[in-house]
Amino acid sequence: MPDLTPATVAVTAGRPAHEPDAPLNTPITMASTYVAGGDLEYGRYANPTWTAFEDVLGALEGGSCVAFSSGMAAVATVLDLVGHGAKVVMPRHAYLGSVMGLADLEARGRVTATLVDLEDTDAVVAACEDAALVWLESPTNPALELTDVPRIVAAAHEAGAYVVLDNTFATPLLQRPLEQDVDIVLHSATKMLGGHSDLLLGAVVTRDEELLGVLRGRRSLTGAVPGTMEAWLATRGMRTLHLRVERAQSNAQALVERLRGHAAVEDVRYPGFGSIVSVVLAGGALAGDLLVRKTSLWVHATSLGGAESTFERRRRWKGEAQTVPEGLVRLSVGIEDVEDLWADLSSALDDVVA
Ligand code: PLP
Repeated sequence: MPDLTPATVAVTAGRPAHEPDAPLNTPITMASTYVAGGDLEYGRYANPTWTAFEDVLGALEGGSCVAFSSGMAAVATVLDLVGHGAKVVMPRHAYLGSVMGLADLEARGRVTATLVDLEDTDAVVAACEDAALVWLESPTNPALELTDVPRIVAAAHEAGAYVVLDNTFATPLLQRPLEQDVDIVLHSATKMLGGHSDLLLGAVVTRDEELLGVLRGRRSLTGAVPGTMEAWLATRGMRTLHLRVERAQSNAQALVERLRGHAAVEDVRYPGFGSIVSVVLAGGALAGDLLVRKTSLWVHATSLGGAESTFERRRRWKGEAQTVPEGLVRLSVGIEDVEDLWADLSSALDDVVA
């Protein structure tokens, strides 16, 4: 059989064998323990419903997947891979939780942290020297910056550092970092992969067998294991990932053009792909806070990647980087009809200007 396309992989991976009376979907196995003598043994070590999710995401990214209880559980586990006092490089505009997790480790003397401007590739390359872990997020949340992944991976590997790339925004359908020699791909499966704003789940994917063993071992030791129901729901969500990504992306692209022409909008940041768009409102924080009261379809909520369109002013979070503009509103574009989305958003923006 030729290599399957990602759409087919999303639909077919992680299913039971085609045998008479087998269910088409891997069932939800609710078990804290298993009859001894097999491979599973105990509920903190393994679960067939997690494996189904891991098989789908691993196949899409092109590596082996380990699922975690949340994206942050995956972030914490990867940050903990480095030795005491090691240097970790991270974009200053990486997801707030990742930056805070690293700051917490540094405050306790566990690691040294170097925050970088991801768009300044020379500076990132220079920071890779003597690093043990180089963290990439491309595009970043919420500044939507991109980076030169191959150049940074080469510099990091030269220094003997692991490279992790948080691929939450792009999904494996729009970017496959393992093909660019990244060591670990990380996901908040809470977002596009789950796709329905009804679960928390995280994952890492790697081709490095040694790392895979360490990551699985740490998951068992910390107990940061996925919920069975969550893994099942996320697997179900991924069956339509390609359709949702395609629709949400085409909606986002149509909105970007229109937003650029709106008087309330000073700047539109969009990396050219995906369904996340950041707009900087000319009226700053006040305009952003007003906007949230003016929409009816668009929901004011944090998080992103659901079927429904949501938005929030990111600086409402105290820990968000001061370099993120006060008036930056991050839109997570959903799969509704784009004309309905624009009618709601443009009328709310009109009110903000008035
Ligand atoms: N990485 C990115 C890019 C995110 O946006 C988030 C959450 O917003 C996380 C990681 C953390 O994931 P979770 O909320 O599933 O713990």
